[in-house]
Amino acid sequence: MENVSVISHPVVDLYLTYLRNKNTKTATFRRAMSNIGIILAYHALNDLKLDETEVETPIQKTVGYQSGQEVVVIPILRAGLSLVDGIISFMPEAKVGHVGVYRDETTHQPVNYYDNLPSGIDTALNLVVDPMLATGGSGSHALSFLKENGAKKIRFVCLIAAPEGIARLQKEHPDVPIITATIDEKLNENAYIVPGLGDAGDRYFGTV
Ligand code: URA
Repeated sequence: MENVSVISHPVVDLYLTYLRNKNTKTATFRRAMSNIGIILAYHALNDLKLDETEVETPIQKTVGYQSGQEVVVIPILRAGLSLVDGIISFMPEAKVGHVGVYRDETTHQPVNYYDNLPSGIDTALNLVVDPMLATGGSGSHALSFLKENGAKKIRFVCLIAAPEGIARLQKEHPDVPIITATIDEKLNENAYIVPGLGDAGDRYFGTV
């Protein structure tokens, strides 16, 4: 699929199995989410711009690097928070912004209920994070919101993507690469991903 990277690794498959298992306890669920967050960040930042610098080892001076671009992680509340811990342990200097989106029950349209973005998203590499790319409604809305606020370089990072959500983001935001751990089969009538893992936010926060 164009612009979609699926991380393929046996250890990711092990973590995904813990996450999918309905009997997995909250602590194990959180740890698996955090570990996959690290791996997703590794892939999402694989073209991070670096500036060359000089570093002095105990032996001699040599070439070193410093980040030439700020990284901003932007979880879509609430479930997006579940991947932040892993991503910022991989990239501790990253700033974190927040976007909260809900679906209006009458109009069925996504609405922002909260946002807090750091300065510099116009030049940063922005990682928009939501573990479940289901219909793509809130994801697409969050991407439009960030672009309206000046973001130019954006990646969408998720754990499980449904074909429907991928199709929507590819249509509405063809410039935004998607990084996911897996692509599942479909959505059910309640817009849950099948087979998925249930409600990611409830399982991560223990609100089931
Ligand atoms: N959000 C979730 O948490 N799970 C799904 O399956 C779809 C959207």
